[in-house]
Amino acid sequence: MLQINNLSNTVGDKPILKGLSLSINAGEVHAIMGPNGAGKSTLAYTLGGRPGYEVTGGEVTFDGQDLLALAPHERAAAGLFLGFQYPVEIPGVSNLQFLRESLNSQRRVRGEEPLSGAEFIKLAKEKAALLGLDMEMLKRPVNVGFSGGEKKRAEMVQMGILDPRLAILDETDSGLDIDALKIVGAGINAIMRKPDKAVLLITHYQRLLDYVKPDFVHVLSKGRIIKTGGPELALELEREGYAEVVA
Ligand code: ADP
Ligand code: MG
Ligand code: MG
Repeated sequence: MLQINNLSNTVGDKPILKGLSLSINAGEVHAIMGPNGAGKSTLAYTLGGRPGYEVTGGEVTFDGQDLLALAPHERAAAGLFLGFQYPVEIPGVSNLQFLRESLNSQRRVRGEEPLSGAEFIKLAKEKAALLGLDMEMLKRPVNVGFSGGEKKRAEMVQMGILDPRLAILDETDSGLDIDALKIVGAGINAIMRKPDKAVLLITHYQRLLDYVKPDFVHVLSKGRIIKTGGPELALELEREGYAEVVA
């Protein structure tokens, strides 16, 4: 589904990714772990097409098409979802407005009919229930006054509504208490653990991986993947630290 070949980039003229390769098949969950500053978020932003993240080498294909040739909104419409460590607040725009517009703009890019108000509300209720988020919360402005856990749950509702093929979740577990972590983990499984979908979890800690079991764990260091293993690699990293494992 996602094939990253020897990807290099610069951020503000500084080389960050340095020949990163990674291959993700449908039905798989991959985790990327690594020390602070390794380039994990840079990888997520670069795949999302964020301005300022300039690709200087390599290729990325998503379902066989050249991902890097697509504009950010085309990547999203093609089924790529990015979850961020720090969700933005949008005062004056309700979650429901935001979600409906996100979904319908993606549908328009794909040449599909937009959902009607009633169809959308039905879908939103279903996904909000999955994440244990009250519909009243979704009437409030996007993320304004939400706790860390509520922001992450709202983001997972968004993921459920957009129904992507590939979700890249950057430190979705940061700032979550144990209960929220369980809910978010169960939400990721319910929405994304399907034979035609895949997940890339970017995380510092093993604890989210107790709930969303990865098939592969990669260590990213200095802009490259330097080690790949199974779930046991995450436990080893937690126990011994990056310095020990990547030495
Ligand atoms: P991680 O998510 O693994 O902690 P990042 O991808 O956020 O790492 O950062 C990788 C490197 O890129 C770090 O050295 C960081 O200082 C640098 N970096 C990130 N964003 C920028 C930026 N906007 N301008 C310059 N350097 C940046
Ligand atoms: Mg970081
Ligand atoms: Mg980061």
